Amino acid sequence: MNLQAFFASHQQLPLILGPCSAESYQQLEQIIQELDPLKPVYIRAGVWKPRTRPGHFQGIGIEALDWMEDLARKYQIEFCTEVANAQHVEHCLKRNIRTLWIGARTTVNPFYVEEIAKALKGEQAKVMVKNPMNPDLNLWIGAIERVANEGIEQIAAIHRGFSFYGNAIYRNVPYWQIPIELKRKMPQIQMIIDISHIAGSVVHLREIAQIALDLNFDGIMAEVHHDPQKALSDADQQVTADFFNREVLSHLVRRTNLLTESAAYAEIRELRNQIDVLDAEVITRLAKRMKLAQELGKLKKAYGISIFQLERWNEIVNKSLEIGKENGLNEEFIFSLIEAIHVESIQHQSKTMNQNSKLQ
Ligand code: PEP
Ligand code: MN
Repeated sequence: MNLQAFFASHQQLPLILGPCSAESYQQLEQIIQELDPLKPVYIRAGVWKPRTRPGHFQGIGIEALDWMEDLARKYQIEFCTEVANAQHVEHCLKRNIRTLWIGARTTVNPFYVEEIAKALKGEQAKVMVKNPMNPDLNLWIGAIERVANEGIEQIAAIHRGFSFYGNAIYRNVPYWQIPIELKRKMPQIQMIIDISHIAGSVVHLREIAQIALDLNFDGIMAEVHHDPQKALSDADQQVTADFFNREVLSHLVRRTNLLTESAAYAEIRELRNQIDVLDAEVITRLAKRMKLAQELGKLKKAYGISIFQLERWNEIVNKSLEIGKENGLNEEFIFSLIEAIHVESIQHQSKTMNQNSKLQ
């Protein structure tokens, strides 16, 4: 894959700001003017809006692209917008809108991604690929590959969180391990954080942006509207340019990469060495625990006892949570840790008890 930098090297943090949806010429023009001091690299505006339920504002469509073409010329700015099929791409390119993003609901569908990628073949275009709705790293990677396979070289990934069932503080869960793993698998790709769609409200925008910067994300996308409460889509999560500047941007701390020659390096290395020793210890202890599980499997088999015993599992969970609490560790973390250990232990027991079984 031949990827070029999506953002040229910037002193300033690259920003992609603008309304969830283009609503009128005047709305776009006012937002452009209000955003001018922040010098966003691109103005975002959705033209075709995939709404979860029917009956909601579905976007202006082609007419909004004409506004964007005109305003781009008038203010010497660049727009970007979402495309969900080949026709969308053609309409955008015709109006010289060449920075496009593939939305979360489209990334999940390889047919559409392929169609969009093919429509871009041989074109001067830049593409941002949002993560799919569901936490599936391979779908995300696959969409990036499909676009790259058609010769697009400037591709960035946008992290917008993942959908889930139930209540949580954010609209979409970030599962930070997924963008981290994407970066590990595709170190050349630049990462943009879409703080608005993760947060779903204005209160968490800053903290999400700061975490992303601390994870070396390369740019921020946020929904900015001149009158958020009146926005036709995603009103709850949109902010004014002034709010974004005052409450989000001006508080963000940008830290640098760790350089081997730096003074910090030796100090950090010292702590990392201690951490490495502990990690090795944790892993060798876990191996020992799995050996015991195998012994347990032999006993259970001999006595005809099933692997899973609810009281025992409750006992393990409660003890672990208690020890975790005593040591100031997060309950959710301890639970998922002990759960992972338990599942692995069941695998070991099952292998011992049922020769050819593979429990997954
Ligand atoms: C959007 O950016 O307005 C949008 C619809 O995003 P997503 O595809 O992340 O839901
Ligand atoms: Mn939106």
